Amino acid sequence: MNTQNTFEPVEFFCPNCGEKVNYSVTLCPICNSVLSRVEVKLTRELIKGRNLTRIILISSFCVILTANILGIIVPNLRTLTQAFITLVLTALLFIFCYKGFAIAKWITIIFLGVTGLTGIKLGISLMSETWFALIIIVLAVIYVGFSMLLIKSKPVKYFQEYQRIKRKMSKENKSYL
Ligand SMILES: [Zn+2]
Repeated sequence: MNTQNTFEPVEFFCPNCGEKVNYSVTLCPICNSVLSRVEVKLTRELIKGRNLTRIILISSFCVILTANILGIIVPNLRTLTQAFITLVLTALLFIFCYKGFAIAKWITIIFLGVTGLTGIKLGISLMSETWFALIIIVLAVIYVGFSMLLIKSKPVKYFQEYQRIKRKMSKENKSYL
């Protein structure tokens, strides 16, 4: 078991004596009680990270959902099966990203970044033909912004780390109060 003291945004406390403990220890260093459950305090940074992650993933999914529905109805660009597969895969990717899996997060970052940049290019090329190009550009810029936020935002990083610790703890049969 490795100790991980570098992580600050979430703090763990012994439910017996209230002493701050490391999440990876099994015995409280103060009162010696077995830590099968620990008390958790979410810091403001962490809550910010959770909200930000939710906003990014949910609004991105809504855009993809809308685009796929439009793709089925309007010019018959996509078949129902194609749209269904896209949506299921995206939902799975975003769920794993939310749960703090690093690979899923990086796929999401690349996916949003590439889709955003492609969208900007497409929007600019359609600019003279339709006003709709402006909406594409705005959404695409937001996508690139989301991608950057997932890379840069400290609260998002904290939340990912917290999700990883949560998973680790459930593997070690520890739980939260
Ligand atoms: Zn204690």
